[in-house]
Amino acid sequence: MKIIVLMKQVPNTTNMLIDKEKGTLIRTGVESIMNPDDTNALETALQIKDKIGAQVTVMTMGPTQAEDMLRECYARGADECVLISDKAFAGSDTWATSNTLSAAIKRYNPDLICAGRQAIDGDTAQVGPQIAERLNIPQITYVSQLIDITNDSISVKKEYEDYTEILESSLPCLITTLDPTNPLRLMNVTDTWNAYQKPITLLTNVDLQLESSLIGLNGSPTQVKKTFTRSVSGEITLIKDSGHEAVNSIISALSPYLN
Ligand SMILES: Cc1cc2nc3c(=O)[nH]c(=O)nc-3n(C[C@H](O)[C@H](O)[C@H](O)COP(=O)(O)OP(=O)(O)OC[C@H]3O[C@@H](n4cnc5c(N)ncnc54)[C@H](O)[C@@H]3O)c2cc1C
Repeated sequence: MKIIVLMKQVPNTTNMLIDKEKGTLIRTGVESIMNPDDTNALETALQIKDKIGAQVTVMTMGPTQAEDMLRECYARGADECVLISDKAFAGSDTWATSNTLSAAIKRYNPDLICAGRQAIDGDTAQVGPQIAERLNIPQITYVSQLIDITNDSISVKKEYEDYTEILESSLPCLITTLDPTNPLRLMNVTDTWNAYQKPITLLTNVDLQLESSLIGLNGSPTQVKKTFTRSVSGEITLIKDSGHEAVNSIISALSPYLN
């Protein structure tokens, strides 16, 4: 079985500060991490490898610094890591990103593609579904757990806010995974040593041969009109009462907002 895992290196948004004048994120000095949902995608692929045997290829599109994340993926058990990097891909929106990733994925002819549900920086949750559409294969999003897999089919638990579904799909198929349910295994000592010896496969547009109208800024129909940070405002009412008095104070504080 051949599995592609799509992983994105993202800024750790829990430490992010906003430049209030420019309305942009201050990225300087912010550490980069594996996108949290993608760690579940990798763990799911590695569990399948443990269970029925698989070649796990991690793929990322990004700047050369994403190599650090790929080395970590080797240390956690990936078999091949692929970096898709070229100035021609700069300025890609999700449309151009999924176009580029799909072209790279086609070279591997995988049985299963595991992506995260959503990246914590771009936050659109579009890339996985767009790739499934481009490759014309079934997709199951919001996967929290692998139930079973054979060489022909996969069954998984799909998580909604208030209920779950068990879904089965034929292969090839694309799944997108949620973050919290399936913690990524620790780095293995032997694999960590090997992680720095193994080559990383670099794909540029010389390899993918995509027309310039399909990639990078030219291939990105999204127009960002304005970005801004909503200011936090409002008065704080401190209720110091206790017991019934506190309940009555809360009700009277809320009453202007209730019908
Ligand atoms: C007009 C425009 C210009 C942009 N220019 C740039 C730019 O110059 N540089 C830049 O870094 N970003 C740029 N972006 C952001 C970039 O488009 C998104 O980060 C990217 O398309 C992924 O979208 P997302 O973060 O919403 O991912 P989501 O759709 O939320 O991600 C879902 C899953 O898809 C997979 N995935 C997503 N992106 C990648 C990736 N790159 N490699 C591997 N797997 C991935 C992961 O598994 C992820 O969990 C731009 C966006 C716009 C709208």
